[in-house]
Amino acid sequence: MRIEVNRARCEGHGLCAGAAPALLRLDDDGELVVGSEDVTDAAHAEAAVRVCPVAALRLDDGADGPRPGPGAA
Ligand code: SF4
Repeated sequence: MRIEVNRARCEGHGLCAGAAPALLRLDDDGELVVGSEDVTDAAHAEAAVRVCPVAALRLDDGADGPRPGPGAA
């Protein structure tokens, strides 16, 4: 499973980092940093996708294709 960031959408709210601090963090410039795109902690990754207010995250488990977050167009 991979977590993907749509950089054009991401506004640096950091809510995802709060939901999955082992996977995501904001750097000193407020840019989202993905610690590891290969996700083994699905529960936290899914929580991060859910809390993003601009649907900038999605999970791709490689089986059924990408799973967009809520509100994704
Ligand atoms: S919650 Fe969404 S907009 Fe905020 S930093 Fe995470 S991906 Fe970016």
